[in-house]
Amino acid sequence: MHHFAYIDQNLHCESVDLAAVASLYGTPTYVYSAATIESNYRRLLAGFPGLDVQICYAMKANSNLAILRHLHNLGAGYDLVSGGEIRRVVAAGGDLQRSVFAGVGKSEDEIRLALENGVFAFHVESEPELVRINHVAGTLGRVAPVAIRINPDVDARTHAKITTGKSGNKFGISLAQASLVHEAVAKLKHVALKGVQMHIGSQLTATGPFVEAVQKVLPFVSELKRSHDIGYFSIGGGMGIVYQDALASGRAEWWERRDQAQRPITPESYGAALTPLLEPLGLKILLEHGRFMVGNAGILLTQVEYLKRASGKNFLVVDAGMNDLIRPAMYEGYHEIVPLHRDTSRRAMVADVVGPICESSDCFAHDYQLQEVGEGETLALMSAGAYGYSMASRYNSRLLPAEVLVKGSSFELISARETFEQLIANERIPAFL
Ligand SMILES: *Cc1c(COP(=O)(O)O)cnc(C)c1O
Repeated sequence: MHHFAYIDQNLHCESVDLAAVASLYGTPTYVYSAATIESNYRRLLAGFPGLDVQICYAMKANSNLAILRHLHNLGAGYDLVSGGEIRRVVAAGGDLQRSVFAGVGKSEDEIRLALENGVFAFHVESEPELVRINHVAGTLGRVAPVAIRINPDVDARTHAKITTGKSGNKFGISLAQASLVHEAVAKLKHVALKGVQMHIGSQLTATGPFVEAVQKVLPFVSELKRSHDIGYFSIGGGMGIVYQDALASGRAEWWERRDQAQRPITPESYGAALTPLLEPLGLKILLEHGRFMVGNAGILLTQVEYLKRASGKNFLVVDAGMNDLIRPAMYEGYHEIVPLHRDTSRRAMVADVVGPICESSDCFAHDYQLQEVGEGETLALMSAGAYGYSMASRYNSRLLPAEVLVKGSSFELISARETFEQLIANERIPAFL
């Protein structure tokens, strides 16, 4: 469910007409719904009734300060993957005591920053990292709270570039090695074991792989609780969202029309499948979803620059490119594309929707059917709230797009479009030229 819908044939976000946003701030511009983020957060929590759950929002999905503050106000901590993200949480007024620090490549500086800011725990991915955390904590006279990330070796059945819980990828420690690493923890003076962690991948559309992974790791967690008195189990993130039928999936009827078996994963089905497994543990449960929290809460507005007809094909050349939204080029990601103004009297057209960048991969959709549109009209790429702006670049010297947050009938810029001066601000021409 989300808050993007047509009212009188004009696409709205909550009560805001998106044409007003486009005319005020131009395009390409990301627009997010505060209500959708709040509803996603509350539904996820409600999926685990009776359990002590902390949501650690995986902020790499969308790390705008306003989004971070909004989720903080709802009670979220964060799943952090860099020093930059730690500093963003501080800048947003977020809570690092409810946040965990993940990632395979934590530098000494990042570990120090996390310790100084009192993160809830480090999610450790290797033995050398454990040794380094112990060392840095020692120099600060601290004891670092840690949990080892277990790689349960399950097939998440998602895109290869976003699967993380299979042996042979760089993440975590196998169950076979886990006992040895936990013995190592016991010997180190400046680390203390607080929990267990796992995360098997992203954009999972069924509960099966989550259940399989939890079942696989569960005996180990129980054993560790007996021997080490740990306090929590983080089952990671990865819940998928609807991309294919994104606009329609905003309404309850869309979900009701599908029978249980073919319904994509929901926070309700996810919670219902996992709660009975987790309840007997008597541990605090951490959930680290990123995409689910913000993915369907955002769209990318883009204007048609040209309708080009060539070799029997239509190309809609739009003003957003792969630098603004890289998912189609990088993960074969799909985004539904809809016009801001719906006109049922127009015919349908089939077109490749492409960006202006000098690469053939700069294509949002091939042979896409939509209502006939032309130069100057604005389109929305749906479900673009996660891994959209946060993965944007300046390739082709394009300026980073603007971001707008909607709440009810209010909307405000939460990130201004980049300026050319900012684009070149760090560059210098040496005197020897
Ligand atoms: C990226 C990541 C997540 C979030 O993944 P989503 O698919 O966005 O939910 C959670 N935990 C860890 C360790 C991650 O690296």
